[in-house]
Amino acid sequence: MPLHIETPLIASQALSTAAGCSVWLKLEALQAPGSFKIRGIGAACEEYSRRGARRFVSSSGGNAGLAVAYAGRQLSIPVTVVVPETTSARAMDLLQREDAEIIVHGDSWHEANALALSMIEKADAFLHPFDDPLLWHGHASLIDELASSTLVPDAVVLSVGGGGLLCGVIEGLQRNGLAQVPVIAVETEGAASFNRSLRAGELVELEKITSIATSLGAKRVCDRALQWSREHSIHSLVVSDRVALSACERFLADHRLLVEPACGASLAVAYDAAPLLQGFAKVLFIVCGGATATIDQIRAWSASLGQENSD
Ligand SMILES: *Cc1c(COP(=O)(O)O)cnc(C)c1O
Repeated sequence: MPLHIETPLIASQALSTAAGCSVWLKLEALQAPGSFKIRGIGAACEEYSRRGARRFVSSSGGNAGLAVAYAGRQLSIPVTVVVPETTSARAMDLLQREDAEIIVHGDSWHEANALALSMIEKADAFLHPFDDPLLWHGHASLIDELASSTLVPDAVVLSVGGGGLLCGVIEGLQRNGLAQVPVIAVETEGAASFNRSLRAGELVELEKITSIATSLGAKRVCDRALQWSREHSIHSLVVSDRVALSACERFLADHRLLVEPACGASLAVAYDAAPLLQGFAKVLFIVCGGATATIDQIRAWSASLGQENSD
């Protein structure tokens, strides 16, 4: 039994109307730890457990850390998560709920990650949030489920942080005879490391992350993501935090699901009828989910962006 569930694939009348094409949703927000990440991380944790791991270590205070904590609890393997001091109370609560040991260290993820890596002993497995072929392999199960349905989309829309989801979805398309289906890769302004790398033709590291979509906040995407751009058709789109937040609000009203701005970024492509969609009749959106934002937080961000603008 895998640690993830097979998620529903539904047609969305609300998003289809907004987008001007037929929109299908793969509801990864329904995974127990709140996002698609349990697919890849669950598969990786099971593999590391088979190889004899006695503890899982992560340095993510976000959905990756939550997925590791959930997987560890399910497999009865202890989990240690090292997070920086900037980690929200909400994220800490969620990790605690999964019985993870939490170590708070450093001002930034960089320092927390360095401590996590220095702690790794022989019987420990370190779970990277996006740069691990085991993870991509697990994420690809999402497309295996699509392939067993009758839907053949003309394009797949997904969000990009470090590129793990992108690598997994493309691996899934390739292994299911859907190699011709293009991917629309969405990022927010201030977290657009993939877009920058595509334009430069090489991996570019952002100096800092300024988007509120923290789950997309990888300063640098994995190598494999850039490699795929040479082997698979990928369109890169960058949206503002504002439209990502507004998509979260609209999606909550339309589908009664609360998702993070990281996921709202993809949904905004439908809600704002991005011109790129015009060429496609049937589009699959990966509703990647995310557990770390509350509705109060989303509204507070919207209010503060609103203020900036009226200044
Ligand atoms: C991790 C995450 C992403 C980005 O995934 P990558 O594999 O890092 O590209 C997008 N949305 C949510 C909700 C996430 O948790």
